[in-house]
Amino acid sequence: MKWKVPLFDVDFDESELKAVQDVISSGWLTMGEITWRLERQFADFVGVKNAFAVSSCTAALHIANMALGIGSGHEVVCPSLNFVAGANSIVYTGAKPVFAEIKDLNELNIAAEDVEKKITRNTKAVQVMHYGGYPCDMDKIMELSDKYDLSVIEDCAHALGAEYKNRKCGTIGDIGCFSFFSNKNMTTAEGGMITTNNDNLSERIKLMRSHGMTSLTLDRHYGHAFSYDVVRLGFNYRIDEIRSAIGMVQLKKLPKNNDRRRDLTLLYRERLTGMEGIIVPFEHYNGISSYHIFPIILDTKSDRTGFMEFLKARGIQSSIHYPPIHLFKYYRRTFGTGEGQLSLTEDASKRLVTLPLYPTMGDERVHNVCDVISEYLKERKIRK
Ligand SMILES: *Cc1c(COP(=O)(O)O)cnc(C)c1O
Repeated sequence: MKWKVPLFDVDFDESELKAVQDVISSGWLTMGEITWRLERQFADFVGVKNAFAVSSCTAALHIANMALGIGSGHEVVCPSLNFVAGANSIVYTGAKPVFAEIKDLNELNIAAEDVEKKITRNTKAVQVMHYGGYPCDMDKIMELSDKYDLSVIEDCAHALGAEYKNRKCGTIGDIGCFSFFSNKNMTTAEGGMITTNNDNLSERIKLMRSHGMTSLTLDRHYGHAFSYDVVRLGFNYRIDEIRSAIGMVQLKKLPKNNDRRRDLTLLYRERLTGMEGIIVPFEHYNGISSYHIFPIILDTKSDRTGFMEFLKARGIQSSIHYPPIHLFKYYRRTFGTGEGQLSLTEDASKRLVTLPLYPTMGDERVHNVCDVISEYLKERKIRK
């Protein structure tokens, strides 16, 4: 399908190509200095002590849960209005994901009040996700963490560059997890990053990323070690030098690209806020978002599929973030979750539509999308 306005597009040019070619010419393909440099630059950008590049955000989330000692018999409170990777990463450890509500239709992040209601003797951690790049209410989450002695994992897949009270997302909880998947604010095709200020966690994360081995390929190359021990269970969750090189270029572009996402978001808001039949979430948000996606919520009279078809017929791609995790067959079957359990989440997820947003998008495309939406709403009115 050739879209006139795609949902997202990458910002790649000759610099990414050159970075890849340089790695290939160098002959050193993985676990090298480029990855180490990317980690240092990423840590500086986010304002955190330690950053570890991994193969994906899903891998980051898995390691995060394990590093915090989460396992069988434990519960982790998390949102259902999220990509499934969040809950899956809890299940991988043998722990049980316990789903909490969103705040409301305007604020699609996890509601701290509901998190507190879901806490039991077995709760070990809260996993939050900064929806769309709009930070969760971290003051309240950290209060709960203190009160009930819980770890906090921040899923920052949407939130690279977003700030909560002068601190970047991924530095507030115990561990932050980032994604470099192709549709994220910066991409390495596949990839991710883990951040933490805690040196103990940092040691564990570093080991778990590479089989729990005490010495790595690069150490042996430098002649620092001949052999190794395996001191805990680990995985191969490494990134490679090719992707890290792309990541360096993308990280440099990120501030400018996030600014562009903000401008496009403001333009969308100007056109759509107050339009009859549409709610624009995070309306009153005045902090620094990373503006990862632009979601809208249709009114209860709308037929969402019809709306998305109307856009599609005019070459505009749209999406849904997200079908709720607690209604997926696997989760119903395994954890007995189901309809009616999270009424706000279920209502929002039936009415959400994500509109196109990407840094290389021109203003005229936003106008195009908004014109089509207003045409749809006018036609609907006439038909009634
Ligand atoms: C993309 C995404 C993930 C998964 O990231 P991968 O790098 O593809 O593993 C997890 N959580 C959220 C909120 C995401 O948007």
